[in-house]
Amino acid sequence: MTEWEVYAIKYAERGNPRTRADSFIFDDNHDQPHTIDYFMWLLRSGDRTILVDSGYDNEEAAARARPIRVDPVEALKPFGVGPDDIDDLIVTHLHYDHAGGLHLFPNAKLHLQAAEMAYATGPCMCHETLKMPFTAGHVCEAVKRLYSGKVVFYEGDGLVADGVSVHCIGGHSRGLQSVRVMTSSGWLVLASDASHFYENLWARKPFPIVVDLEDMLKGFDTLQSLASAPALIIPGHDPLVREYFPEAVGTDIYRLDKGPQKEIVR
Ligand SMILES: [Zn+2]
Ligand SMILES: [Zn+2]
Repeated sequence: MTEWEVYAIKYAERGNPRTRADSFIFDDNHDQPHTIDYFMWLLRSGDRTILVDSGYDNEEAAARARPIRVDPVEALKPFGVGPDDIDDLIVTHLHYDHAGGLHLFPNAKLHLQAAEMAYATGPCMCHETLKMPFTAGHVCEAVKRLYSGKVVFYEGDGLVADGVSVHCIGGHSRGLQSVRVMTSSGWLVLASDASHFYENLWARKPFPIVVDLEDMLKGFDTLQSLASAPALIIPGHDPLVREYFPEAVGTDIYRLDKGPQKEIVR
């Protein structure tokens, strides 16, 4: 089976006034500060490159008053990868921080759960609370790509490439999918927002942005069943990823496939 290199690229972070209440439902220390990181991920094997999620651009950053460190195209420069080089883009879900750069990768085929497209274009978006993490322009970009024949839909589990599969978790967003990748260390799982932080997963603490709490809780078990080892489950937004995994290729890029460089505290 094909083995892949896996990189986490941090493109933004957000701290004060963010608190633990923004990360965990029913947390005892709800008013304590809690910083969040924002990542995109890159998979490489031989001459193949697959991008997992697309970050968001400066326009979105201004609209949400959530600045970014680098825009999605800039973030890939250290790999020598230009925006036209991306042919396959796995979209874990359509929230603004994962789908906000889709328009920057015009050649990319989008790999998406059918349930996510239905959710983002359907009646649930009449509710402000459910609509909040989506931006209409990003969803429209996915629809445009569909009409130009560049969306591959999955319903549940699906194979994207040899050694790369997607698995519908739901919970946080209706069609949220995690990505399972074969590496030299075994099966690695990019949880994306199926677990924002290690603490969501290991303490079974749900994240407050949720459409189906039961699916979110069941998803934690699914992540564990998909990975060869607990240390190979990578949460979607945790600053600790930068502590556990070595920096490689460039600033704020972390290599995941060789496993953590120090023991992960659970
Ligand atoms: Zn999300
Ligand atoms: Zn997110």
